[in-house]
Amino acid sequence: MVTGDEGSEIYLEHRKDESGIRVRGHFIPFMKEGQELDVIVCVRKGWNPLEARRVIVPGSQTGQCDRCGQDILIAPSTQELMKDYPNVPTRCVDCVKKQLEEEDGARKS
Ligand SMILES: [Zn+2]
Repeated sequence: MVTGDEGSEIYLEHRKDESGIRVRGHFIPFMKEGQELDVIVCVRKGWNPLEARRVIVPGSQTGQCDRCGQDILIAPSTQELMKDYPNVPTRCVDCVKKQLEEEDGARKS
């Protein structure tokens, strides 16, 4: 269980066509309309580089990560996505990061 300064390795990244969160070298894009979704990424509640930068969207709600069950922040745009994609799981950044690392490991071996 890592707490505290973990946030320094996670930051917002804005690209030409998309924005997302960069986590230890992995770029996790925010979801866009019309995109095929595997998972809807949300940031953990309480810990939050977005919150620290005051970019939390008004109307954000609390939800639960599909994988670990911890509280996550669900922005209004994400709430809309969840209505459009009721079968797509919402996960916290931590779990998505773990999944990416697992996939990376599988690719390397
Ligand atoms: Zn999780």
